[in-house]
Amino acid sequence: MTAPSLTLNPSGKLAIVGIGPGSLAWMSPEVQTILQTATDWVGYQTYLDLVEPLRAATTQRHVSDNRVELERARAALDLAAIGRTVALISSGDPGIYAMAAAVFEVLEREASPVWAAVTIQVCPGISAMQAAAALVGAPLGHDFCAISLSDILKPWTAIAARIEAAARADFVIAFYNPVSKQRTWQLEQAQAILRQWRSPQTPVVLARNLGRTGQTVTVKTLGELVSTDADMRTVVLVGSSQTRIVQQSHDRQWVYTPRFYPS
Ligand code: SAH
Repeated sequence: MTAPSLTLNPSGKLAIVGIGPGSLAWMSPEVQTILQTATDWVGYQTYLDLVEPLRAATTQRHVSDNRVELERARAALDLAAIGRTVALISSGDPGIYAMAAAVFEVLEREASPVWAAVTIQVCPGISAMQAAAALVGAPLGHDFCAISLSDILKPWTAIAARIEAAARADFVIAFYNPVSKQRTWQLEQAQAILRQWRSPQTPVVLARNLGRTGQTVTVKTLGELVSTDADMRTVVLVGSSQTRIVQQSHDRQWVYTPRFYPS
């Protein structure tokens, strides 16, 4: 990343944008305009590549590693502080396991006076769970929650306690970061916890590479779920006790969670 000069400029802007799961059709017009008019893009290479068709020839790319979120947030704020119009790019929604929280974390922790004049804007995007839900019907139609299975930033005991609480409360659960090359057992552990509270017939949706090349959406049951069904590009939706699979025709089924409980 380029080191910004120290000449501050109060016209600097930082838009923290969510590009949706991948395709342009699922990106808001607001985000498309911001990407087309920004002087600088900051983000993880994969996301910058996804939106490359929107980049003006003069827009500078600042690629960073996916794991150095706070550093990336700091760099984006520094660029805006010298008067640049910066788009900090997240996949899905920037407020869901993504860059918006990282920006406010460095803003609070470091409180650099050079950032005071930066105009910050958070621009929402379609999150992976919403895209997955839309493709199969309405599994998030009633109360639901999202849980990240990544225990890099928090201990597994905290995650396990949250899964159990969500299972007991009968929430539909969207699992983000279910499996990675280093984290191979968390999804099956989550399944084991859920199985204490939910039937093996509970519908599970596995949505991979949403809005991108190689998109797949599979419906299974909780009993059938195995770790190899998912990877870092998969979001997993586990139904509540009320979630149902409905057959529209012999080759078309939908998953939904009714809004009303039977009386
Ligand atoms: N801000 C993103 C989430 C980032 S956390 C959002 O709102 O969607 C990264 C996790 O999100 C991945 O491990 C995966 O679980 C999910 N995810 C992000 N993009 C996805 C996509 N295109 N298809 C399937 N899952 C995706």
